[in-house]
Amino acid sequence: MAKIQMKTPLVEMDGDEMTRVIWQYIKDILILPFVDLKTEYYDLGLVKRNETDDQITIDAANATKRLGVAVKCATITPNAERVKEYNLKQMWKSPNGTIRAILDGTVFRTPIVVKGVTPYVPGWKAPITIARHAYGDVYKGVEVKVPDGGKAELVVTDKDGGETRIPIHEFKTAGIVQGIHNIDKSIESFARACFNYALDLKQDLWFATKDTISKVYDHRFKDIFAEIYENEYKDRFEKAGISYFYTLIDDAVARVIRSNGGFIWACKNYDGDVMSDMIATAFGSLAMMTSVLVSPDGIYEYEAAHGTVQRHYYAHLRGEETSTNPVATIFAWTGALRKRGELDGLTDLMDFADRLEKACIKTIEDGVMTKETYLLSDLPNKRQVNTMEFLKEIAARI
Ligand code: NAP
Ligand code: MG
Repeated sequence: MAKIQMKTPLVEMDGDEMTRVIWQYIKDILILPFVDLKTEYYDLGLVKRNETDDQITIDAANATKRLGVAVKCATITPNAERVKEYNLKQMWKSPNGTIRAILDGTVFRTPIVVKGVTPYVPGWKAPITIARHAYGDVYKGVEVKVPDGGKAELVVTDKDGGETRIPIHEFKTAGIVQGIHNIDKSIESFARACFNYALDLKQDLWFATKDTISKVYDHRFKDIFAEIYENEYKDRFEKAGISYFYTLIDDAVARVIRSNGGFIWACKNYDGDVMSDMIATAFGSLAMMTSVLVSPDGIYEYEAAHGTVQRHYYAHLRGEETSTNPVATIFAWTGALRKRGELDGLTDLMDFADRLEKACIKTIEDGVMTKETYLLSDLPNKRQVNTMEFLKEIAARI
């Protein structure tokens, strides 16, 4: 069989630990036999990041801007232990944070649904995608303890020196105070990324804040979404047969639980942090959660939602067999290949991506699975295999 041809290369960002090992397996067993793979390779493994003073991460992000589609392996975000373990020059920043800042993107996370792993919420028949705003609010907050008798005020000085001063609280006893902010431009990018992604997936978009309580701050989010929807997206949504729905965050939570799934849920930064873990766990496993960063100008970076699976890597280094689930990482590849096919008009590349995804799902639904899915599955004929056996079973089903 002739291999499927590509036009434009993907940006390939290699990573760390167990996912780095699996990355190579996936290419060797599931992609290279079928596709004449073209990539521009960037090694984002911690060793290389340290060697290049993290320039490699910036180069990879810029290449993504140039080429439009990237696929990324999980990477270590260094902490004090990692600085020792890898003898690092400094505690390099999170590569995902660096890439997100350069691409100005929104992260969409979607669970991969298979028969035999039942969501904890029985009504959920289709996946729910969480879109998390990745800038500001409490993540860029400043806070301080206030002694008793202290007085807190909110002061904004404009560029001409004018001043707005609002009392926060006069503390009769000790307490705490916090200042948070966001930026219209960032909220606008977030809104556009969500509307574009909804059109891409042909799914409804939900958005929720607490604008009844936060009448200026959260209300600004609500207004920006409404304005952009009315002016730029309403017609396209109507044509695509999808809708934009705004409600209060507590109402949204109740509706999400009662829903059948199959929509995109846009969340402010904190809501997205909390709700994405809830959605991932309620659907089954972190190892079955995909993640894509979409920039407002239509650049895509695909990855798995989980990390480098460090514990399994150490077992692997000790020569022990591991049963690490490669599915989310495979879906990062298929997402990138499909998007590349779509942009370059290569239907056979898109078909291959569909086929590979179906093969993954079929493998699990046939009862062949890695350990963490095995423990969750209610299939009567289930059988646990190691990572390599699992990949070969998928290959046999392509
Ligand atoms: P993790 O790699 O996501 O793993 C946490 C635990 O979840 C694992 O120990 C494993 O549980 C289970 N798990 C996750 N993915 C799995 C898979 N594919 N198959 C089977 N089980 C899976 O998170 P972590 O251990 O907290 O972090 C490890 C490193 O990853 C850190 O250095 C962190 O900085 C990095 N990280 C990177 C990204 C990214 O690049 N996007 C995201 C998160 C974390 P058991 O051990 O119980 O089997
Ligand atoms: Mg979190």
